[in-house]
Amino acid sequence: MAPEPTSEPAIRIDNLVKRYGAKDSAKDSDGGGKLALKGVSFDVPEGGIFGLLGPNGAGKSTLINILAGLVDKTDGSAEIWGFDIDRQRRNAKRSIGIVPQEIVFDPFFTPFEVLENQAGFYGIPKAERRSEELLEAVRLSDKRDAYARTLSGGMKRRLLIAKAMVHSPPILVLDEPTAGVDVELRRQLWELVLELNGQGVTVVLTTHYLEEAEQLCDRIAIINHGELIANKPTRELIGMAREKIVSVSVDMDLAGPIMEEAFVKAEVVEPRRLDVTYDRDATTAGQILSLIQHHGYAIEDVTTREADLEDVFVQLTAAV
Ligand code: ADP
Repeated sequence: MAPEPTSEPAIRIDNLVKRYGAKDSAKDSDGGGKLALKGVSFDVPEGGIFGLLGPNGAGKSTLINILAGLVDKTDGSAEIWGFDIDRQRRNAKRSIGIVPQEIVFDPFFTPFEVLENQAGFYGIPKAERRSEELLEAVRLSDKRDAYARTLSGGMKRRLLIAKAMVHSPPILVLDEPTAGVDVELRRQLWELVLELNGQGVTVVLTTHYLEEAEQLCDRIAIINHGELIANKPTRELIGMAREKIVSVSVDMDLAGPIMEEAFVKAEVVEPRRLDVTYDRDATTAGQILSLIQHHGYAIEDVTTREADLEDVFVQLTAAV
């Protein structure tokens, strides 16, 4: 059974540093090697769905592997469910379930056996095991006794989630859960994640799909080049986008893009339609429209596009 919670955040990460390939230990900052995490600090609040985003090579897997006990950190500290990952390693490990990116099963075990073996690994007595219940939860009861190698990719991913939940951890971490997965299966996995979260499991996920983060996560941290560059509630993060786009239809063919200082970018997308990107802190859609009218065009239709997570992501990660 999961240990009782002992403190507020589900995960606390404090000044985490990872240098790969450095000579021996730790704190020599000229130690060479690849500095994958440059002193990252943040908390994962209990009870939510937390997204960890960042471009390829940003350090996401490194961070998760440190929490999983698969990679040794160079410096800093981390607590999982109040347990220090060094000093209280066993309890820390028991408090987290990790769903890895890669699918690795012995092809000759059945889903039931995969879960039973994992329970054995955690020393869970037979009477306390939840294999059937977990198979049910991930909709694999009918595949209970099939060889793992005969499962579809989606079934294998669901089995991985069940495997990560065998010891009833209060925190579930999913590393790129829907990479290379089709739309239908992605929806199914989202549902499963939401269901587990609804049962009180704190979820952390890394993803490349910004739409996934936007829809699922209530809070998002972004790392880039081993540094934390954002950590905010999703809605607030999306609200950070400075640029907005107004799409304007005019009464005659455009001679070419109209240039004005107030425009960040102007693009003729159809003979009579112009998309103007502007900085919402510096100007308004109304001003943009009157500038276009000044060029002699009458405006027939206007739509504005709100920024989404992708805009913010591009804005933040392009800065370095
Ligand atoms: P992400 O998961 O965000 O794509 P990673 O944590 O995998 O990023 O990688 C962060 C950086 O550390 C990258 O530059 C990567 O090349 C490097 N790296 C990752 N694993 C190792 C390793 N085992 N040895 C050396 N460098 C590594």
